[in-house]
Amino acid sequence: MLQLENIQVSFGVQPIVQSVSLRLAAGEIGCLLGPSGCGKTTLLRSIAGFQAIQDGRISIDNIEMSAAGKQIPAEQRGVGMVFQDIALFPHLTVAENISFGMRKTRASEKQQRVAELLERIGLPGYQKRYPHELSGGQQQRVALARALAPKPRLLLLDEPFSSLDAELREKLAIEVRQLLKQEQITALLVTHDQQEAFAMADKAGVMYQGELLQWETPYQLYHTPRHQLVADFIGHGVLLQGTINAKGSLASPLGMLQHQSLEHIAPGTPVSFLVRPDDIVPDAQATLKGRIKSRGFRGAFNLYTVELPSGIEVLTLSPSHEQLEVGATIGLRPEFDHLVVFASDHCELPGLEQQPPTDKPMLLPEAQSA
Ligand code: ATP
Repeated sequence: MLQLENIQVSFGVQPIVQSVSLRLAAGEIGCLLGPSGCGKTTLLRSIAGFQAIQDGRISIDNIEMSAAGKQIPAEQRGVGMVFQDIALFPHLTVAENISFGMRKTRASEKQQRVAELLERIGLPGYQKRYPHELSGGQQQRVALARALAPKPRLLLLDEPFSSLDAELREKLAIEVRQLLKQEQITALLVTHDQQEAFAMADKAGVMYQGELLQWETPYQLYHTPRHQLVADFIGHGVLLQGTINAKGSLASPLGMLQHQSLEHIAPGTPVSFLVRPDDIVPDAQATLKGRIKSRGFRGAFNLYTVELPSGIEVLTLSPSHEQLEVGATIGLRPEFDHLVVFASDHCELPGLEQQPPTDKPMLLPEAQSA
């Protein structure tokens, strides 16, 4: 439905978006994540038709919208946008705000669509209210209804929940996903917030300095990042250094790890590998010990930073009702579902992603006695 092929955008000589390609099927929701200034908004504006592209191609429903020297005007693209600053018209009622983009529609149809959308966003009967009579979350829902009212074929959302608190953000993200699915609208969302991306997206990607490093499901971004920057940006975790020791085994600060996915890497190869908090289980019986440096309350669980005797720090988690004290020594048992290993060029070593993610690496006997 949406197809970007090698998009290039520059401001003057400064390249801002570089060689970005991605696809969204009809009805899919995509999310772009990435640090501030990496080009997310610029990419969104290019898709909306507010920004020219210097190279590549943007197509919507197989119709070419942008290419070098070509830009179909924004109003002819059938694209809706929701921005960070809610910008409802303060002097218009909720109903007037929602029906603002439906000027050519008959009054009775408009009324029906407004009522239907208010029902869907959980604000039935709010037609006559003014924006100042709504909470921030309610205003954001109305802004969304306004964008959905003319039934755009593609909806672009730029940090739409960033002015809301974390709890409301996550709740709204789930609601908005349901709403978009009901309305069968394809959408692309820009956000800083990974929880929001995880809650909403069918496909997600991390942008860095104008490049899209990976475009896959949120699960794949978290569990099989193909680039160290993606691993760093998505979720908690640390990258540890190790060396391939012999066929299929990795000498590491966590001991000797063994996994069939390492078998094709030549012995002696230095690598970094990703360790998520859920890859390390607190276990009093384990021979690998560490000292708890800090504890972060995360609701259902606590996130611990643990210092190993070598000075290296790793993260682990356990249910928050089993409180472990800062300064205490704990045993740690590595339990990887899969190993994500990077070569020195910061990209995943080829071939590893084909490995089944459920094979657990085993600790070799020498690690257990180390
Ligand atoms: P944020 O998450 O902070 O909103 P972003 O990833 O959306 O950031 P963009 O707004 O796309 O980033 O900006 C990317 C880069 O392009 C920034 O360095 C910004 O300063 C620059 N930039 C954006 N618009 C223009 C412009 N009109 N002229 C020149 N440079 C611009």
